[in-house]
Amino acid sequence: MKTIRASHIAIGTELTSAQTLNTNSPTIAKFLQEMGIKNQAHIVVPDDRKLIMQSFDFIAPETDWLFVYGGLGPTTDDFTRDMVSEWTGKELQLDESVWQHIQDILTQRGVVVRDFQKHQAMFPVGAHIMENSKGTAHGFHLSAKGKEIFILPGPPKEVQSVLENYLHQWVKEHSTTSDSEITEIWNTMGLGESEVSYQIENLVKDYDVVVGDRVH
Ligand code: AMP
Ligand code: MG
Repeated sequence: MKTIRASHIAIGTELTSAQTLNTNSPTIAKFLQEMGIKNQAHIVVPDDRKLIMQSFDFIAPETDWLFVYGGLGPTTDDFTRDMVSEWTGKELQLDESVWQHIQDILTQRGVVVRDFQKHQAMFPVGAHIMENSKGTAHGFHLSAKGKEIFILPGPPKEVQSVLENYLHQWVKEHSTTSDSEITEIWNTMGLGESEVSYQIENLVKDYDVVVGDRVH
């Protein structure tokens, strides 16, 4: 069996400038870890086309499942879907039913429907929509470049919604072939870190394990 490797790219200048703490990637990484998937790498990039593209290229060789967060909204700094389209070579096309749904929500909220809002209803050809019940920007899932690629919205409650509506079931169905890592935790007291580490290394030296020390 092969270990499935997941990587995460969180997009937003509010994240790199430390105005907002990135909680989206850890939320999904924790869920994946529990499902036996290996979290390989995390990247945070600003709303910058070149850096977003470079982050895709950097992470691609090391990942089977790629998770991308943010930049799906209607504002001019939201262009994740365009970057994904360019990177995968899959053109964006309008999903009429999503566009209708967005217009209904905006009308209900008393917001004027403008043409630029249509962008949130554009998805790469062949992508599967991941329903977001908490906002107008649905996520999407596509298979491209030999990977499963999941694009999620930025607001954490919307990430939670996509997790519940789509990812939970999909990952459950597709993680059974992953050779998962089992985490064992030993709590020790009264000895220094280096002494504990020395003793543990001796105990596990004949086994295929990775040891990590955490001091509390
Ligand atoms: P976006 O649609 O990417 O512009 O994100 C909308 C809002 O969601 C941002 O203004 C942040 O407040 C929040 N947000 C975006 N990305 C993250 C993240 N990785 N972790 C936590 N909050 C986020
Ligand atoms: Mg943003």
